[in-house]
Amino acid sequence: MKKPKKFKEQANDYSQAYYAGQDAFFKAALEAASRRFELDGASFYEYDEKTSHLRLRLRLLRGVVFEHEENSMPGAPSISAGVRLRRTDSVWLKALKTLQPVPFKGPAGYFAAIPFRLDYSGAPLQNSPAVSTGFVRLERYLRKKRFSPSECAAAMAFIGEFLRNYYKAEFFSLNKKYSRNIEAITELTEVFAGSLRVRDSFRRILAGIQTYFGFDRVRLYLIDEKNKKLKGELSADIRGQIKSIAYEEIPLEPGAHRFADIVLGRDSGAFMERYKDCVLYLPLAVQGATIGLLIVDNLLSQQRIAQEDLVLLKSFAGQIGLAVDNVRLFDKVEELSLYDELTKLPLRRYFNQRFQEEFYRAERFKQPLALIWGDIDYFKEINDTYGHQIGDCALKEMGRVILSNLRKIDFPCRYGGDEVIIMLPQATGAEAMKFARRLLEELSEVRIPVPFSKTRELQISISFGVSTFPQDAVSQEKLLEKADDALYWVKSHSRGSAALYSESAAESPPKAEQAGGGATVPGSTAPEAREKNADSGEKYNVNN
Ligand code: GH3
Ligand code: MG
Repeated sequence: MKKPKKFKEQANDYSQAYYAGQDAFFKAALEAASRRFELDGASFYEYDEKTSHLRLRLRLLRGVVFEHEENSMPGAPSISAGVRLRRTDSVWLKALKTLQPVPFKGPAGYFAAIPFRLDYSGAPLQNSPAVSTGFVRLERYLRKKRFSPSECAAAMAFIGEFLRNYYKAEFFSLNKKYSRNIEAITELTEVFAGSLRVRDSFRRILAGIQTYFGFDRVRLYLIDEKNKKLKGELSADIRGQIKSIAYEEIPLEPGAHRFADIVLGRDSGAFMERYKDCVLYLPLAVQGATIGLLIVDNLLSQQRIAQEDLVLLKSFAGQIGLAVDNVRLFDKVEELSLYDELTKLPLRRYFNQRFQEEFYRAERFKQPLALIWGDIDYFKEINDTYGHQIGDCALKEMGRVILSNLRKIDFPCRYGGDEVIIMLPQATGAEAMKFARRLLEELSEVRIPVPFSKTRELQISISFGVSTFPQDAVSQEKLLEKADDALYWVKSHSRGSAALYSESAAESPPKAEQAGGGATVPGSTAPEAREKNADSGEKYNVNN
């Protein structure tokens, strides 16, 4: 036959349509066949050999292509009202069985069933049947012209060539996808593995997923076990912008939200859930425990998420989960090394760093900055009398009261032992004193239960010394020193109160003299007297 070569060229041209999708490709095939064989209509049928279902996929009628999703079963009563195949069942079955074209004449006109069968077995086509079978029905209603045997043979060659092109194009595209996937696996693995100890790790993970898969949006939610919530972390969009979605908080309770149900495994097929094929929910788990939820979607473009991407992402779920968990673990370790476990206050190291930054800012913008140095009174005695556990409770309470009274810009720390320092940027001495008095007031209301003692509860007392920049000192070291001096003054004059360095310095002689002779400020107790009190066991107030 001479014709197939010519058809081959024609079919090749249309193979370009493959890249617009499978349906576009078959549309192009029907249109080409329609022109080539002077048709009034053409229909594309797929046949499922396993279930004997015949499915009308596409229909071309007077130059317009309609998409169909209609099923029927040749030989069985038609299950589709719109398409009547029963009368021609034998024709379809004959064409499918013999794989030979079958021309026939019906009441409406002339037809020809051109069967095809493509054997994919052996080809690496994921999620495709090993064999694709069906036929194209050529239709002539208006032109009363039968399909000659040579036309039928030409149509067989034409359709066959088209489908072989389709197969080639699909194979080529799959090959491309495979190499892209290998590239993605290599690079994403690096991203995930390298995420540990990187400050913006979550960003990198999300950006990596967004870039490699080209999703419209990728969102990460993490489980907050303590507060029983699913918390928004980050969202990466198609422009590569990464935003915090920390404002999203979902109660982790059954029925509270679809996301919560997925994470709790209540939604069917908890591992993956798709919404209109444009959204994929991927619970992240580490050693069997769910730690979060990754949601990717193409809701903006309404593009179906490709099966290959689903499979690939699913295979990444474990790695993503591990990467996310590592980042969390790292944050926890970092947090632990910056914060004091007992009082929940930042540690001295962290404070020093922040103090340097804030002091520099205060100098540069000529703003005040105050320090409050606090120390629990007779803390040693508390430990000795009631034990370290009660001592720890006192420290905890001090931390709690301080943390619950701070402004956002204030920065406290446990400086060591029973000492705390609170930095108040932009605060004057008077403001810092006001704050210290408020703390004193609240601390005076604290009662620590001591069940084994007669008195049952313990009241704590704390002394505060306050220094301010620039009045009291113009360097960090000096400012700390002055706050310490002010505290020392309070300790030796009126424990359980607060004093400004400038006022304490004006009221008392230098430290050296104080230490020797003891200070006497009206209303205060002399150190010796207090030492005596301490010895008699009245160092701190004990409530009955
Ligand atoms: P003052 O009124 O002059 O401040 O006397 P004080 O007894 O409070 O003496 P000081 O501030 O020197 O005592 C600090 C004590 O705090 C010494 C140490 O045993 C105790 N301490 C330090 N860290 C902890 C801790 O984490 N828990 C407990 N329970 N005690 C601690
Ligand atoms: Mg103390």
